[in-house]
Amino acid sequence: MAELTPMMKQYLEIKRDNPDSILFFRLGDFYEMFADDAKLASKELDLTLTSRDHGKHQKPVEEQVPMCGIPYHASESYIARLIAKGYKVAICEQMEDPATAKGLVKRDIIRVVTPGTVMDAACLEDKAGNFLCGIYLDARCAGVAFCDISTGKTHLTGFTDKERVEHVINELGRFSPAEAVLNDGACAETALTDALKEKFHCRVENGGEGRFRLAEAEKNIRRQFGEEALASLPKSNPAAAMALGGLLNYLYETQKTDLSHIRDLDYYEQGRFMELDLTARRNLELTETLRNKEKKGSLLWVLDKTKTPMGGRMLRSWLERPLLTVTAICKRNAAVAALVDDTPAREELIAAMTGLGDMERLIGRIVYGTAGGRDMASLRSAMERLPLIRQQLAHFADRRLTELLEELDPLEDLADKIAAAICDQPPFSVREGGFIRDGYNAEVDRLRGILTGGKGIIAQMEAQEKEKTGIRTLKIGFNKVFGYYIEVSKSFADQVPDTYIRKQTLVNGERYITQELKDLEHEILTASDRVVALEYELFTQLRQAITDQSGRVQRTAAAVAELDALVSLATVAVRNHYCRPTVDESGVIEIHQGRHPVVEQMLKDSLFVPNDTFMGAKEDRVAIITGPNMAGKSTYMRQVALICLMAQIGSFVPAASARLGVVDRIFTRIGASDDLSAGQSTFMVEMTEVADILRHATKHSLLILDEIGRGTSTFDGMSIARAVLEYCADKKLLGAKTLFATHYHELTELENTLPGAVNYNIAVKTRGEEIIFLRKILPGGADRSYGIEVASLAGLPDKVVQRAKEVLRQLEAENGVQYVSARKEEDQVSLSAIGEGEVLDAIRRCQPDTLTPIEAMSLIYEWKQKLN
Ligand code: ATP
Repeated sequence: MAELTPMMKQYLEIKRDNPDSILFFRLGDFYEMFADDAKLASKELDLTLTSRDHGKHQKPVEEQVPMCGIPYHASESYIARLIAKGYKVAICEQMEDPATAKGLVKRDIIRVVTPGTVMDAACLEDKAGNFLCGIYLDARCAGVAFCDISTGKTHLTGFTDKERVEHVINELGRFSPAEAVLNDGACAETALTDALKEKFHCRVENGGEGRFRLAEAEKNIRRQFGEEALASLPKSNPAAAMALGGLLNYLYETQKTDLSHIRDLDYYEQGRFMELDLTARRNLELTETLRNKEKKGSLLWVLDKTKTPMGGRMLRSWLERPLLTVTAICKRNAAVAALVDDTPAREELIAAMTGLGDMERLIGRIVYGTAGGRDMASLRSAMERLPLIRQQLAHFADRRLTELLEELDPLEDLADKIAAAICDQPPFSVREGGFIRDGYNAEVDRLRGILTGGKGIIAQMEAQEKEKTGIRTLKIGFNKVFGYYIEVSKSFADQVPDTYIRKQTLVNGERYITQELKDLEHEILTASDRVVALEYELFTQLRQAITDQSGRVQRTAAAVAELDALVSLATVAVRNHYCRPTVDESGVIEIHQGRHPVVEQMLKDSLFVPNDTFMGAKEDRVAIITGPNMAGKSTYMRQVALICLMAQIGSFVPAASARLGVVDRIFTRIGASDDLSAGQSTFMVEMTEVADILRHATKHSLLILDEIGRGTSTFDGMSIARAVLEYCADKKLLGAKTLFATHYHELTELENTLPGAVNYNIAVKTRGEEIIFLRKILPGGADRSYGIEVASLAGLPDKVVQRAKEVLRQLEAENGVQYVSARKEEDQVSLSAIGEGEVLDAIRRCQPDTLTPIEAMSLIYEWKQKLN
């Protein structure tokens, strides 16, 4: 240390306090990085590594410290790249003006930017939240908190049962945090840390126990959210408060700035939202597709027609958190219905919200202190849309829409304040002036007058001096040595007043200065700096005035976001011909002419074939679905799950009509996927998922089980499939509503023995070797899978297809069965069979004991008519 320059000593001291961050050390117009930070940053950011001797004595090159730097004004994009790679960046600024500082310039960390605490728009996705998460776990309880500091939204929950780690992981699925701070107990739980790192690619910070202490947590919650919020947390589970306490501590340590926009705490109990595990989220492709992880092709892609980023985030959060109570669902659904019914008002609202911008993040940046003039101007233009939105909202009598109208503050006073102060097209930086509107501040106007009219003022003074002294040849000039001067020719030397101070004698005259001239000179030369400083000061005053009212802006932004999300659901409902479902506690799922919301949008050359679904609370709880490959089994099952989920976020659904009993959870087991990185084979993954489902499902759950038991030998697989089916169907064991697709046709026998089980198949038609997919679900089991035909369709070489057929025949001969029996008849399932199927279905459903003779007779007529 003794050998080092004072600046390098200062660097090392600051680095010692921030060992796990890349330190951006401000040196003039650059942020410099040294030593290991420089090596890392040069690699990650493709910067040239140089070196510089920081010792007092010249050292050999190999001992010189590696360094690299970036211009400070371009730092945002570099920070964004490092954050995206999961690093923390500590920003060390010069705390005094180097020009006036005595000795070494004082420097300090002003902020540590981390993946979960970024505010910069370049690092944030518009329509997704960016969450920091705090997790506290001990032998008895668990708490998990999420905070998006760009918007201030904070959510918190806790668990005390033995499945608490699974619950916490499922909560992570809702928010997909970018960074998590964990206590020691949570760090020791590998299922949790693995999920964070591998499923969410989340930066994990070991927060130790100190950050999570209850007393300090309570103090921080009181300070940030108020006494009332603290009192509303459950006393039975302190882990929730401790998780939030750990999160807040981390925020305070890294963000050394105003965080008062983080003020609303949403504590939610288990049971307010439908819990979905990571597998179900992934398989149902709620926000991204399974294969490419893209929004296009997901349910969100279909439903998201929002016009503002905050509306987009709100809609996404609804999808991540489907509701469970009928009243809450119906309230949202009624608002969508009201918007569906009033097309003119809906269109006006869409127009008013288009391009309105991200009020939520704008106000976040204003409070946080990183907003610029452009942010202010954007906030103002967003606010100016509010009266129009209010005017349109006033058309509605719906309860939620009326409440939103009340929550929507027109904010005219704030819009006026900004409009008065900030010009219409302010420059990007607030450090270079030029954004305060003319006429807002007299001093700014005066200084600008000096800047633009500097020469005019001098000419004016020249004229005044000429007149005062009567010297005709008097001139005001400028040179670099002594600035402005008054020049008088020799012939007028005796008329020069006493107040003139002689500075230079020339051949033909004398040069003078006056106090007045020097004052004016000072004004002109410093006007530029002063106006910049004054504009900045006025900006900070305005920023403070808006910050003081940030609660009003946030509430209004939340109301606009909700309205935008509701309008989006209404728009999609109209555009895609959805119906308003009846949602109740009946436990029944009854869908007429249901469609898959995403597949129907993706089909280009054909129309989607709608299908009915009936699953009762008692009867028809388990549907065993057989049918050829590619027939549409998976599509059908997912369609039922998605329709239930859409209804529970308050949306209309793709069907002609639907009555839907609330389901508490949806579980899926779909397709084969290896998780080799987690050391699990295809079959192991399948069985782990099935085990999870059977452990957690309840009789109110909806289970989508696609091809259970396919990953092992036929007999093992079939036995497992059968046992699982029996378990699901048995009311004493589970009794959940289950859609079960299988190629084990033997399982269709269970319809006769398993109470609540019904067979369905998806119809195809064969013509010679060709199969035609009818996409229609019918009662009854299918006889075979047509695997070889589908393989041939997929382009398997002819030789292989022919050989497969031979092998199949051989197997049939050996086993005495005829899998190809159906092929003897042309048109194995004809369209008339669909009519027959319907009749058979009706016969199965009808309860003769409840029919009068007349009713029975008319039913028979009806059936006969169908068959004809
Ligand atoms: P496998 O047994 O091979 O897994 P599957 O029976 O599960 O096949 P799906 O994957 O559901 O078949 O469907 C195959 C394709 O059929 C879908 O990608 C979709 O394009 C189309 N499809 C499915 N259902 C319908 C429908 N109702 N209307 C129109 N097209 C459909």
